[in-house]
Amino acid sequence: MKPYRLLILLLLPFSILSCREESFTDKYSSDSAVGILGIGEDIRSEKDIDEETWERVFDTEGYRKYLATSRRDVLCSMIKEAAFLAYSPDRSAEADSVLLLTPDANDFQTLMSQNICKLATRQDEARRFVEETDFPGLLSKADRLVKRYLPKRAISGDVTLNDLYLICTIPDASVRDHSVLLDLNLAMDMKEDEIVLLLAHEFFHNYRETVLTDEPGDSFWKIFNCFENEGIADLIDKGEHPEAMYARYGASFEALYLQEYRNAASTLQKLDSLLSAYQADPVKGEYGPVADLLVFNGHPTGYYMTRLICEEGLRKELIEAFDSPATFAELYNESASRRNKRGGKEYLLSKDLVDYLHLVEDSTFDLRLK
Ligand SMILES: [Zn+2]
Repeated sequence: MKPYRLLILLLLPFSILSCREESFTDKYSSDSAVGILGIGEDIRSEKDIDEETWERVFDTEGYRKYLATSRRDVLCSMIKEAAFLAYSPDRSAEADSVLLLTPDANDFQTLMSQNICKLATRQDEARRFVEETDFPGLLSKADRLVKRYLPKRAISGDVTLNDLYLICTIPDASVRDHSVLLDLNLAMDMKEDEIVLLLAHEFFHNYRETVLTDEPGDSFWKIFNCFENEGIADLIDKGEHPEAMYARYGASFEALYLQEYRNAASTLQKLDSLLSAYQADPVKGEYGPVADLLVFNGHPTGYYMTRLICEEGLRKELIEAFDSPATFAELYNESASRRNKRGGKEYLLSKDLVDYLHLVEDSTFDLRLK
């Protein structure tokens, strides 16, 4: 072999690797968060902040996505109020008292003010954090991790993964317009591994939605689809105490999650009874009583189901069936009966419900093949 050919062969894996890293560089921006840090410094040194400066920050891509709602004006005022409170030298006593509050999940202004006040107390650390954290590297790690939760057939095609934007808001990570909007102060409280887990959770949804393009409109199928989608994604990042993540939105939120998680069996049983009622008197479009059972987008019930499936040794089968809520329901039943043989008291879904889900799924997917 000619030496230059050997060199090309040796360098090839590195160039592919650096190419991939580069593609993640394009998928990340901290401009919105850095914009707020800059405004904060100006407020601190008592400079006037004109409307144009605010608009420049709100026009960075992260905030543009975050503020693309009918509540834009309200949210902008909230961010401004939070920043003025957090950074104005003559409001420091007020800021100190806000730091002592325990805001409730729906008190958005207090949640935001407190969060930005916390950020302001560690301004230099925040600057360093943004400069030194390799977010594109974390995105790349998340993409490698999520593949452990996907069947081979899901990772071969082209998948558009979410972008990542750091913003300053309430302590939250939300997904809008194919992007993860992560609060800077929250990110600083997370370990790098936790950020990777969070991103991998969202990437799971990206891979799944790429495979599952035609979703049946049936209400029963849809709720099991949410259970499966969030249940598997939660296997990636929720760990032993899934409720812990909800604690940051307030104690009432955490308690509600826990209650839903513990009531998973009763939610499943209600779905069974609703199917009999529905079949006796079907309605067109969304079936309200089923939609009402979807709380937290299916996270608590879904995670309860996927954990049981994994604990009963059917993890491989679960991952293989990641885009089939009907098979998912079947795997749940198999796991519940395995557990019950050892003295468990898990709820078993009726055969009617499992058959119904298969019927809905088969008729939709058959149409796709025609
Ligand atoms: Zn999710």
